[in-house]
This record gives sequence, C-alpha cells and structure tokens, in this order.
Amino acid sequence: MVAALVSARLPALLADPPPAPGRRWLTNARLVDGTGAAPRDGSAVLVEDGRIVAVAGTGDVPSADVEVLDLGGRTLLPGLIDAHVHLSSSYPHPQPAEGVEPIYPGTHAHIVAASARAVLRMGVTTVRDVGGFGDIIVEVRQAMRYGAFRGPRLLTCGRIVSPTAPGGRFFPGMYREADGADDVRRAVREQIRYGADFVKVMTTGARSVELEDPHPAQLTREELRVLVEEAHRQGYRVAAHCEGLAGTELAVEEGVDTIEHGMYLAQRPDLLERLAADGRILVPTLSCLYGVAGLGEAVQPGSASTGGAEPPAPTWTPLLVELAEHNLEQARLTVRAAREAGVTMAMGFDWKGRNALELLRMIDAGLTAREALVAATAGSARALGLEDRLGTVEPGKLADLLVVDGDPLEEPELLLDPDRIWLVVQLGAPAVGAALERSPSVAAAPAALTR
Ligand SMILES: [Zn+2]
Repeated sequence: MVAALVSARLPALLADPPPAPGRRWLTNARLVDGTGAAPRDGSAVLVEDGRIVAVAGTGDVPSADVEVLDLGGRTLLPGLIDAHVHLSSSYPHPQPAEGVEPIYPGTHAHIVAASARAVLRMGVTTVRDVGGFGDIIVEVRQAMRYGAFRGPRLLTCGRIVSPTAPGGRFFPGMYREADGADDVRRAVREQIRYGADFVKVMTTGARSVELEDPHPAQLTREELRVLVEEAHRQGYRVAAHCEGLAGTELAVEEGVDTIEHGMYLAQRPDLLERLAADGRILVPTLSCLYGVAGLGEAVQPGSASTGGAEPPAPTWTPLLVELAEHNLEQARLTVRAAREAGVTMAMGFDWKGRNALELLRMIDAGLTAREALVAATAGSARALGLEDRLGTVEPGKLADLLVVDGDPLEEPELLLDPDRIWLVVQLGAPAVGAALERSPSVAAAPAALTR
C-alpha cells in the first residue's frame, strides 16, 4: 500500500523508541477502542513486539510466554493524539524579571523537553507540532530518539511556510516566508530536507498577531496550488492555518488535508460538506481562542474555571481579546455544524500540557463524550495520515495505549487528573503513569510546564 510506504519514512516514526520485546497480555479492562464502538467490559489485549496482535475477552488467556498485566477493571483506550500543538510556545520562556540574568540560548530546549515529558504523562502518546521556534523541536525529537527521555511521538512541520507577512516578525525562526510559485515549491522542499513530517502553510493571517488580518487570503491560489501539489507529489500532507473564509475556501478547493482553526466554517455549509465528502479533517483548536480570550482553564466560556482558580487576566491586546471572544462563539457553532455535516474532527489544544482540556471543550461545544474521544484518537490519527498505525485499539496497530482510573465517557474530566492517568504504554512498554510512581501527586508536572 502506497500510504504505508510513504509514512514509514516519516522522521517521527524513525525516531520512535524501541518497541517492548515479547508478548504482554493486558487483561481485565473496560475497552474504549477509539472507533466509537460502545465500551466493552472484560476485555483484554495481546501485545507483541510493540504491536497489538489481538483484542479478546479476559477469559481467552493466551497459552504461554506472555507477561500478564491485570488492569483491575480500569479503562483501556488508545493513547491520545494531539493534532495541533506548539511544544515550544510561550517563547521566550521563562520570561525573567528585570535584572535577572539573561536566559542562555540552550535553556529553552530543556524546557521544551520537560513539556514533552509532561504531555506524555497526561496520556498523549503522539503530537503534531505545527510551528516551533528555531530548531528546538527537531533537537528535542533527536534527543528522544537517542533515549535521553520519553515523550510523545513528535511530528513536525519544520518551518511554517508563509507568504511574507507580519507573523514572520513576531515569531522568530518559526516561518519560512516564501513568495511566488517557485519560491513556495523550494520552501516545501526545504522542509522535507529538514526532517518535516508534513507541510504547514498560512493561508490567512493569524489573530494572535495584531498586524495580521484573516481577510483576504494571504497567498494566491497559484502559490497554494503549487505548495499542495509539491507536498502531495512527494507524499507529505498539508495542514493550513485558516481563519478568514476566503483563505479557508482556497484551502478546501486546493486540496489541503487538514483545516486548522476554520472557525467561520459554520457560515459555509458547502465547504463543510466538501470536507466531509473528501474525508478531510477539521482541527477546531477551541483552546487557542479560550487562551487569547483570557478564559484560563474554563470549559464553558461563560462559567468559572473547572480548575477552581480564577481565570487569569487577559494578557493579549484588547483588540485581540475581543476578537477571540467573537471567534470562540463562531468556532463553537462550527464544531456543531461540522458534526452535523459529518466532518471528521481532530483534537488540537494549540498549547501544551493539559491537552485534554480541548476534548472537554469540544464536548461543551456539542460533541458527545464518545465523539470527542474518537476525535482525540482516531480522528487525530487520520489528521496525521497515520490511521493505519495509530488511533484505535485494533490488531495491527502500534501498542500506544492509555489506562485510566474510571470511565472517561462518563467522566471525561478525569483525563486532566494525573493521579487517574494510571498507565501510559508506548509501543508495548509501560512508560509513565500513576501506577509507576510512588507518590503521584508529588511527581505530577510542575504547573509552570503545563501551558
Ligand atoms: Zn497553532
């Protein structure tokens, strides 16, 4: 199959840790398999050399040479996948007070590494990083490849391909500005050369930048067509930052694989229908808008934070805060409209750390808990083009698994509680989780690293 051949050379897969050797029987589980099927109590999964080889009942114990792991009735689900993160966000981070010694250039990579560990600890086994500062993301991935620490499987776009635009001045080392068809084609090739797993393009301005406007499209149809053509020709997928409808329409028409944000799509049911018909993916990234609107950890935009703390004062400019509030209303309408149109959605937190907040916010916007969990697993796997390996608990898939205390369909907020993230399994190997920690609350990620 061509898709399998293409994805096998993705740098993110080449950087995987070694799979756990031998056979492991994960038994006595309530299985939520990521397909959207009803949960199944009394389930068991046989893992061999890092892959799922069978999904069975607790009574079907395999004959010999198997290590048994009794999950005690806990819920087993696929490792979560975040299709839109910025692991190196909040740059420069930390922001020292005046008078404090300057931050050394290498410090930031250590902080990003700590973020990667914190993300994995919360059950997210794969992330797609859609824009980082300089080379930090590939450096962190390389460090994981050589066993420095465990984090999620990390797909990167390299530099974001953008027409020359204000954002290029706001985010140092994040953009490859390209203008005209030939330059755009070269920019795509540069990202592949660099080790990108997909290509990200700014079809519209970003409303995290006061000088950018989401209208009109930032690039021409010809530029986007060449970008998509070159990426696809070489077997890579394309993710497009889409805010305004003109750029979103271009992205849909020119065959972009994943629409990032896309908050106004409820106004264009025809575009949603086209995405649904083609099996393309919408990544709504509600949390990005919560963040700019200063809503803290709230799940319902109008309510107090579920985390108990008051939302922090907005730190963005008043104009951007006001726009984010409007855009959040639009984005929530779009989640409902996309659901009705049958568009596959993926989970994209757009920050890092408490990624499952996005899942709760998608539920608040109109998905059922089961639909949101499918978005955070199978939907995200499709966004990454890795649905043949990831996203469901089925024979043949990689054994990236999550075991939680309780039922996330009844109580999805448990996904935010490190004590209830009981075990995270990477390629068959128990990697992190409360079960492996003597004092889970002490070992939880420091708050500073969760945003
Ligand atoms: Zn983003």
